[in-house]
Amino acid sequence: MNYHGQSTSEIYQQLETSTQGLENSEAERRQRKYGKNELAQKKKFSVFNLLLHQFKDVMIFILLVAALISFVVGDSSDTIVILIIVVLNAVIGFVQEYRAEKAMEALNKMSSLHATVRRSGNIVQIPAIEVVPGDLVLLEAGMLVPADLRLITTHALKIEEASLTGESHAVTKSTEAITADDVPLGDRLNMAFKSTVITNGRAEGIVVATGMNTEIGRIAQLLQEEKIKTPLQKRLAKFAKTLSFAVIGICIALFFTGWMRGEEAVQMLLTAISVAVAAIPEALPAVITIALALGAKRMVRKNALIRKLPAAETLGAVSYICTDKTGTITQNKMTVVDCWVSPEAKKVADFNPEELLILAMELNHDVITDENNKLKGDPTETALVDYARNNKNYNKQWRTDFKRSYEFPFDSKRKKMTTVYPLNGSWLVVTKGAVERLLTICNASNATEINTTTEKYAKQGKRVLAYALKVIDQLPQQLTVENFESELSFIGLTAMIDPPRPEAIQAVADCHTAGITLVMLTGDHPITAKAIATETGILQQPTDRVITGTELAKFSEQEFQENLESIKVFARVSPEQKLKIVKALQGKNHFVAVTGDGVNDAPALKRADIGIAMGITGTDVSKEAADMILLDDNFATIIQAVREGRRIFDNIRKFIKYILTGNSGEIWTIFLAPLLGLPIPLIPIQILWVNLVSDGLPALAFASEPAEENILKRPPRKPNESVFSGGIGIHILWVGLLMGAVCLGTQAWAIHVENPKWATMVFTIISISQLGHALAIRSNDKSIFTLGFFGNKQLVIAVLVTIGLQLAVIYLPFLQSVFKTQALTFSELAICLGLSSIVFWAVEFEKWTKRLKKKNASSEKQL
Ligand code: ADP
Ligand code: MG
Repeated sequence: MNYHGQSTSEIYQQLETSTQGLENSEAERRQRKYGKNELAQKKKFSVFNLLLHQFKDVMIFILLVAALISFVVGDSSDTIVILIIVVLNAVIGFVQEYRAEKAMEALNKMSSLHATVRRSGNIVQIPAIEVVPGDLVLLEAGMLVPADLRLITTHALKIEEASLTGESHAVTKSTEAITADDVPLGDRLNMAFKSTVITNGRAEGIVVATGMNTEIGRIAQLLQEEKIKTPLQKRLAKFAKTLSFAVIGICIALFFTGWMRGEEAVQMLLTAISVAVAAIPEALPAVITIALALGAKRMVRKNALIRKLPAAETLGAVSYICTDKTGTITQNKMTVVDCWVSPEAKKVADFNPEELLILAMELNHDVITDENNKLKGDPTETALVDYARNNKNYNKQWRTDFKRSYEFPFDSKRKKMTTVYPLNGSWLVVTKGAVERLLTICNASNATEINTTTEKYAKQGKRVLAYALKVIDQLPQQLTVENFESELSFIGLTAMIDPPRPEAIQAVADCHTAGITLVMLTGDHPITAKAIATETGILQQPTDRVITGTELAKFSEQEFQENLESIKVFARVSPEQKLKIVKALQGKNHFVAVTGDGVNDAPALKRADIGIAMGITGTDVSKEAADMILLDDNFATIIQAVREGRRIFDNIRKFIKYILTGNSGEIWTIFLAPLLGLPIPLIPIQILWVNLVSDGLPALAFASEPAEENILKRPPRKPNESVFSGGIGIHILWVGLLMGAVCLGTQAWAIHVENPKWATMVFTIISISQLGHALAIRSNDKSIFTLGFFGNKQLVIAVLVTIGLQLAVIYLPFLQSVFKTQALTFSELAICLGLSSIVFWAVEFEKWTKRLKKKNASSEKQL
């Protein structure tokens, strides 16, 4: 359809809409007709696929082969049990992955974009997927265009269309019809296309196509996103593979040694297969996803929305945070408290200087006044307008007298904003912005006086804005910013307070104890920034420095490198400098989190190890580029997220420690028995049982383990630190060996005293030992007696259920015949429980030595 060739009035007609926008009922009808405004989903997640996926696993396949072998040799009870285990495995896997998928789906939904539209005459925000053809959409800098639009009004609108045309320069848009034939996309200047980026200005447009009918929709097939694996998942997948080979090697050895010793071949084969199934942690990568997805779900409750799953894991490694000031450290609740009119300001038209300053505040703003006379927009802007409208010099008539002709919106690089109005046949140009920027384009001879006044306010932590204006007879030849923002007369200053968030002070302190360096990057004045940084504790040491973007630009590369880490406040920085700082910090091996809200922040957010966008004030572009979104814009939320990230990683580690130690215990027991001249103590279905129940159930509970007390009191881990560092590898080996030793010792003793129930006893001990181990490794170094037994309810339940099931297997006659167990007497059971606790005590002892070492180390430091 050729929309660009039609005039705006033809467009209204064609799409059956008006300047009031669609009626709500009509919009609903059109949504039913045209469907949702979304690009066709990748592969839709379905319950059936997920269920099928559970059976695709190689291990499951091996188990099915084992079931078949048992059946062929006539051991149909084994076949049934193996099948039950296969199904249970699938069910548990399914339930977990289903929860994870649901959590991810919810997260994705939350991070989807919104669009601003006119409906029934009102301006409303709706989810971008609900936009329909005919909708009147409002666009402004920082947004992603929600659908294909024909533009009907534009103000200095520039759009970057690289995703469609490959052209990375932003294109200036207009509204005139284009009548030429065969206009390529890049030349359709009166159109805005879905998913392109507004870099400048504002506009309104009528939706002409949505969803897959848009230009981007046509090429959407090419843009299929892949599921990204986290670094940890990649490493673990590799590890699992190596381990699998080792285990398979062990199993082959097991099979042949057993066979050669004269064991029955089929039985030996089944044993070897069971050990392989039990010992290969094939589910590890999947379990990591689950832990991350559930962790991300918990983070949302604390207002940190994870957009990219790997961030949930890597957050814990953050060692440097570069944060914004306004709104993040401060409340972004601005109130103008001071106004200063320059004594040099002269009368313009009929306005005296006092009136001029108030007029300038009324004119130069970016605020929408809604039906109830409430001001909507950036807090800086609303504060200024609010102040003006309540001032004694204010005149309500201005609002109808002055009609804005041109506007150059605020941008964090220029740090100014300019608007232009017709005034008695000439033009009035009003500019507001950072004081020193305005001074360079003003002819003020009292610059010193202006600067001292600015400094006075800034020292009190106030945000200072300056106003300047000029009257020109004719518009400049070229309507560029530079031509308007020049030769202005300075009229005055305003100062507003924006108090720090009360929770920021604690969060900054937490950062320090957690070994994270915190720096403030702000577009604001250095003295204002310093005042806020001092108040919140960001500036602490006498060596901490404050520096401005201008000073930074003068540094040589070497000076920059040398000074970088002593600078705690960067004021008046530009977005490019932000990117440069991030890169330099990464060059010094820091793991950097960066916050941002504007379009210009996107490169820094992308480059950062953790890019953090603002949920409230952030632009679409910054959100798209970010790994995480702060739903409340609050700095304290970042620390909460880091804490959660550390906890997730801790728990993944505990989980791995638990599973692999258990596996190691089983392998040692089965592998060493024949070498010590003992019969293999566990039969295949017992091995599978231990793997599924006494390993499986408690392992799941580790995801709910609360954070360790010192979680924010220790330095961040190295980003690429192995999950086996800190002695975990050794722990897995020695604790496993101990489990094996307890089992085999019991076995040898029971055989020696001719107790026929030795097999059941070993089965019970290996099962219950796991539970003791689970309790003991809940903390890395704290004793469970200080930690308390009931901190992790899920684990308590898992332990109790496992004990119950184990008793059932030993005492219920029906299960006895399946698992080949015998009822233990009370004293035999007591002995087994006692022996099972050996592992528990040993690990408690390990933690005690750790504590002792730490204590010695810290007392040495004090000496
Ligand atoms: P911050 O890091 O505090 O969010 P910004 O980049 O938003 O800083 O603003 C930097 C400077 O730009 C401010 O100190 C102020 O001088 C100027 N400024 C901010 N907002 C506006 C605006 N809406 N219009 C004109 N100038 C502004
Ligand atoms: Mg800002």
